[in-house]
Amino acid sequence: MLFKTLTFEEVKKHNKDGDLWIVIDSKVFDLSKFADLHPGGPNVLYAEGVAGKDATETFFGLHRHEVLLRPQYARLQIGVIEGEVETVKVPAPGSLSKVPYAEPSWLSEGFFSPYYSNNHRKFQKAIRNFFEEVVRPEAIKCEENGKRISQEVVDKMSNLEIIAMRLGPGKHLRGRTLMEGIVRPEEFDYFHELILNTELARFGTRGFVDGMLNGAVIGLPPIWNYGSKELQAKVVPEVLSGKKYLALAISEAFAGSDVSGLQTTAVRDGDHWVVTGTKKWITNGTFADYFTTGCKTEKGLTVLLIERGEGVSTKPIKTAYSSTAGTAYITFDKVRVPVGNTLGEIGNGLSVILSNFNHERWMVTGCSVGAQRVIVEECLKWANQRIVFGKPLNSQAVIRNKLGKMITRIEACQNWLEIVTHQMNNMTYNEMSSKMAGQIGLLKQFVSRCGRETAEDATQIFGGRALTVTGMGKLVENYHRTSGFDAILAGAEDVLGDLGVRQAMKRMPKDALL
Ligand SMILES: Cc1cc2nc3c(=O)[nH]c(=O)nc-3n(C[C@H](O)[C@H](O)[C@H](O)COP(=O)(O)OP(=O)(O)OC[C@H]3O[C@@H](n4cnc5c(N)ncnc54)[C@H](O)[C@@H]3O)c2cc1C
Repeated sequence: MLFKTLTFEEVKKHNKDGDLWIVIDSKVFDLSKFADLHPGGPNVLYAEGVAGKDATETFFGLHRHEVLLRPQYARLQIGVIEGEVETVKVPAPGSLSKVPYAEPSWLSEGFFSPYYSNNHRKFQKAIRNFFEEVVRPEAIKCEENGKRISQEVVDKMSNLEIIAMRLGPGKHLRGRTLMEGIVRPEEFDYFHELILNTELARFGTRGFVDGMLNGAVIGLPPIWNYGSKELQAKVVPEVLSGKKYLALAISEAFAGSDVSGLQTTAVRDGDHWVVTGTKKWITNGTFADYFTTGCKTEKGLTVLLIERGEGVSTKPIKTAYSSTAGTAYITFDKVRVPVGNTLGEIGNGLSVILSNFNHERWMVTGCSVGAQRVIVEECLKWANQRIVFGKPLNSQAVIRNKLGKMITRIEACQNWLEIVTHQMNNMTYNEMSSKMAGQIGLLKQFVSRCGRETAEDATQIFGGRALTVTGMGKLVENYHRTSGFDAILAGAEDVLGDLGVRQAMKRMPKDALL
């Protein structure tokens, strides 16, 4: 776009009574067309002493930088100041933040990590680019309107094999071209997957994080670990290509933490099971085509893959986050399910369900760390730019203390998460199941608790803006409202803490006496 270059004198000349010109950084904006940014009210930017002058500080006290990037406001810029250099630059899509602690150490200039290779760096760059350009606008739109992720974005993700990669390393990646060949299937490891999980949670759209097909991430492993070859051949390609949607349907009104208390029944009738019961809070359930479902049978808990059809109905459950997550209440009313859809041995459903938990909990932890780090960045920026009592907010010791704690928490979470990820990279699936369940439980408990403490501190730092859905504090508002989800989904915090200690007790050597 070509802009007129003005001198300060020319800008001032326009600044007659009632004129609404401001300079933000080196750019000159005509505020008379700015009314829709402040509908129905007087605008601080019109005030004497602001209009016609450099309003950078005033503007950034009121608006996020991204406001100026909205296409509808492009019309406001009518010039640039001659000889002035723009100091507030819009970060290029996909670029790394220069704010201290806004990125993990391995992505911070001059810092090192034993875990990440150049391939991880290349992968991270490509993923952040794609997420910023394609996923972010969709995430913001869906978080707001509550609609499920569009097929168009799902198709773009599946073209890059993002759905398949979100299920971790493994044979399901063989023969696929991952991120246009940036990483070879045999090279892909849990750190690549961790990058995906942290990057997708950066937009302040917690409902969309679950809406981005988390149902498939948690519902598909039982199919390829325990389903028949025929079932795998049919369902896995449909789900990984984003043509069909899947949800994990275990929880019920009377069986959440206590999975063994499930009341949905499956009764044998020839070559079919007849399933009757309800499921509660099922992520992606409102739009899922398949449900990996825990059922009670004569021989004990059994997991079945149920296809949407006669007798299956779903309705949305309103939650504190966006309904883009597709959280559903499901009713199975005498649904006939082929016996071939049984996942694992009849009566062995509890181990099918439990073996699924490690990956799910680790995934939730990665997303939580990604979101939490963005909040730390938001707070560092805000404390630096917000002027209160004539001084930046960060000149208050109490604010610096909060920032210090936030930084400590995010670094502790990241470092523990990375060492756990390193174990996962080096263990077999069975080793992971037996050795890591307790530690992943404790890790998830720690990360979600840290997240909630950070949400509280961030709310204090942002003040009223943290309670406003749009505007300066919108990411903090979303995080504060939704960080509790990480403490409940995939296992409640207290239950996981208890699991971690019980697992440790089991491994206590008999001769470990004081
Ligand atoms: C938005 C959302 C999405 C979800 N998505 C899915 C999904 O896709 N699929 C699915 O199957 N489920 C899903 N769930 C269910 C979720 O997994 C359960 O809510 C969770 O397991 C906790 O169960 P509960 O809510 O019944 O709590 P309860 O089991 O009733 O426990 C209540 C509280 O009591 C405490 N508690 C319970 N037992 C113990 C114990 N032994 N020791 C110490 N404290 C204890 C914990 O603090 C716990 O938070 C979802 C839930 C929500 C809210």
